[in-house]
Amino acid sequence: METLLKQPEVRNFINGKFAENGHKIMDVVSPLDGSVISTLPLSNFDDVDKAVNAAEKAFIKWSAKTLKERVLVFFKYRDLLESHMDELTKLIQLENGKTYGEAKAEVEKSMELCEFAVSMPQIVVNEVQEVSKGVECRIERKPLGVVASITPFNFPNMVPHWTMPNALVLGNTMVMKPSEVVPLSTMRMAELLKEAGLPDGVFNLVNGGKEVVEAICDHPKIKAVSFVGSTKVAKIVYKRATSSLKRCVALGGAKNHLLVLPDANPQMTASNVVASMSGCAGQRCMAASVMVGVDKVQHIIDLMVEEAKSIVPGKNLGSVISEEAKTRIENYIAEAESDGAKILVDGRNSTVPGKEGGFYVGPTIIDYVTLDMSVAREEIFGPVISIIRAKDLDEAIEIENGSNYGNAAAVFTQSGGLAKEVIERASAGMIGVNIGVPVPREPFSFGGWNESKFGVGDITGRSSIEFWTQNKKSTTKWNPEAQINWMS
Ligand code: NAD
Repeated sequence: METLLKQPEVRNFINGKFAENGHKIMDVVSPLDGSVISTLPLSNFDDVDKAVNAAEKAFIKWSAKTLKERVLVFFKYRDLLESHMDELTKLIQLENGKTYGEAKAEVEKSMELCEFAVSMPQIVVNEVQEVSKGVECRIERKPLGVVASITPFNFPNMVPHWTMPNALVLGNTMVMKPSEVVPLSTMRMAELLKEAGLPDGVFNLVNGGKEVVEAICDHPKIKAVSFVGSTKVAKIVYKRATSSLKRCVALGGAKNHLLVLPDANPQMTASNVVASMSGCAGQRCMAASVMVGVDKVQHIIDLMVEEAKSIVPGKNLGSVISEEAKTRIENYIAEAESDGAKILVDGRNSTVPGKEGGFYVGPTIIDYVTLDMSVAREEIFGPVISIIRAKDLDEAIEIENGSNYGNAAAVFTQSGGLAKEVIERASAGMIGVNIGVPVPREPFSFGGWNESKFGVGDITGRSSIEFWTQNKKSTTKWNPEAQINWMS
């Protein structure tokens, strides 16, 4: 990307149209070079109300269609994602700062999420049984009504696709609040959905910050809220949405532990650990954050250092999201250093020639971290890994189990028995064996444990079907001869 393009101003998308902006605005900044690329309206309760009313009206016709009819839109939409791949990839890069390859992988993942959504007619099959002679019981999955999705900055295209396709094909209508830092990808998504034939009002966007989130949690006509973001805000949203009697699943932050055993394949392990901690500049909720090195693993750490040196900001490493994030990450490294940890690779003070205004942090490996240090416990959300040394597997598992979070954990070993033990004993929702980023692919569902997720079920895959629907149970008797029994 040679030049950063000025984008159209961000607008709310309500009832199939971009709305006029009558609000205070904030700048949208590209982290690639720090330039202002657009402006965003800071919407309020009235905007959410308008979007909800449009979604409520659209629900009547949309929910009356069959599942097989609704998925037709998403066959077309999935193909539009593919034919606009390059444009969507560059848009993600522009607003989020990741590399072209990482941004493209996001769009490919969004396509896979749509492929799962269009397969719903093969999965969502209602249940029916003749419970006594001439009497049938049936369970049908029905949509909830108007639902909401609140998304974070780190996957501007993919995370919105965790929720939108499944919720919509199952018959709901939606109000989405994208991260105010990366609002451009979702605007384009709204346009492409319209081009694919989605009726007006079925999908709506309201832009802004906290005020919009609070309005979503409080709005009496919204039936369910899905949230993805930090644990601090996930707790606020979960409490507020459920206290206004909504269904809610809120995914939070992470501190993922990778357990490296001495028998691990050295090169494969070093490459996977470094890729996990530095991919998307460490701004993945599945990123490696702590490596627990069990017993003699120095040879693997040496390879990791070599590997990290081949990762160069602006070349094969994107930017972090903001100046504030860069400062926060660098402060964590400085604090670890002053607490006595050893910085093996230092990504502080990184700049990219020609993009001096951008927010870059190089890959950073911190060794001899102890449990009392903030880099051992807190989510850093940058390309930084803290190495904690453990004498044996029991101690390593105890360290992993001690985290407040529980999104992912992984083990690197060539022993099936030890791998199985970690799968059993790790306190995390998603476990990897010799894989640094163990994201379950569709139809498997995505979701963590502990303070990485609040609410029942996961956000994607089969689990999301439960979240976005409610069961209707009907009992029918058409046979006048059927006996009246103790129940009927
Ligand atoms: P964030 O929590 O700051 O923001 C997420 C959303 O909440 C945004 O739409 C934002 O506008 C809104 N928000 C922010 N502060 C708020 C407040 N005080 N009250 C109400 N709403 C508020 O998260 P982020 O910085 O955009 O994203 C990074 C975080 O998301 C990291 O912690 C990361 O681990 C997490 N994340 C988790 C997953 C997962 O699957 N568990 C996936 C992606 C990101």
